Amino acid sequence: PFAVDPLMQMTGPPEGILYGPGQSERVNATLLSLVRNEELEGMLQAMDDLERTFNSKFNYPWTFINDVPFTKHFMEATKAKTQAKVYYEVIPKEHWEIPAWINTDLMAASAAMLEQQGVQYSGMKSYHQMCRWNSGMFYKHPALLKFKWYWRVEPKVHFFCDVDYDVFRYMQDYNKTYGFVINIYDSPQSIASLWPSVEEFMAEHPDYIHPNNAMQWLTDAENRPEHNEAANGYSTCHFWSNFEIADMDFWRSKKYEEFFDHLDRAGGFFYERWGDAPVHSVALGLMEDRDKIHWFHDIGYQHIPYFNCPNSNKCKGCEAGRFTDGQGLDQEDCRINWFKYAH
Ligand code: GDP
Ligand code: MN
Repeated sequence: PFAVDPLMQMTGPPEGILYGPGQSERVNATLLSLVRNEELEGMLQAMDDLERTFNSKFNYPWTFINDVPFTKHFMEATKAKTQAKVYYEVIPKEHWEIPAWINTDLMAASAAMLEQQGVQYSGMKSYHQMCRWNSGMFYKHPALLKFKWYWRVEPKVHFFCDVDYDVFRYMQDYNKTYGFVINIYDSPQSIASLWPSVEEFMAEHPDYIHPNNAMQWLTDAENRPEHNEAANGYSTCHFWSNFEIADMDFWRSKKYEEFFDHLDRAGGFFYERWGDAPVHSVALGLMEDRDKIHWFHDIGYQHIPYFNCPNSNKCKGCEAGRFTDGQGLDQEDCRINWFKYAH
């Protein structure tokens, strides 16, 4: 198994942070959940955790988004979990629909092939739509245009540690674009043609590559070389995007828009099962200054089956340094690559 990185032992807020409750101006941010009505129980549990550890102190608004209208029951139950403002939004049809240029017969045939290769969710149409929406649509939702920052929260996730400073304020004042907690390998079959598409894009737009990029992290072939090979040059190591604290201005930039558009036209959201996690990660690794990407070592987090567990007395219910409770899954951790190449 991978050794625990020494940085995992750091505790407390980043150095010099004094943004405790009431100590600083809040920033233009929302907690953000794409969620289904049927996932209410899991959403309430995640809200309990985040309100207890962070948001009861800072009161950032929650924005819930759905491809169908939220039920009255969903709205009443979630609203009761927070003192903060809560918004409920429906996705515009044209943001969720499968684009006209996708051949649905080819899509069905590809899904059948990927299912045989064991790619999770490949036959589930809505999963593909969700991944595309999270890749290139969410920040275009009319109700999100007024916000710059978001913290993505999924139903059923856990937060274990008290966060006593304003994480958005930290991001803003320290000039960060993107914050993550977990880095893992992806299933190469789900993104076999992603890297080749990205290479085309880079050839067309060499000026978009940031001089302080994280290309070596993206293209590592030393750890788990079979992943790099099956994904045609991409290590598959990515920021696990069910947690993100980030600046939507990056996604709203011309370069990212062109990047997304290029991938969207290539069709891999539907002919393969490109996830928003590798899409976001590749874009950041190529086009953003890697020093603007922050590992929130101090946010204790779990989305089954992985954890980020700091060694700190601010945390409860999470074993320090633990990465997974799944059999044989320790090898999925690739944070070590991020530290090696980009930190
Ligand atoms: P996984 O984490 O990759 O297993 O995927 P999830 O099932 O957790 O989906 C990712 C996120 O998108 C979660 O917040 C889900 O609630 C949400 N989601 C997935 N599919 C849909 C959908 O069809 N409609 C809505 N409204 N939300 C969805
Ligand atoms: Mn999930």
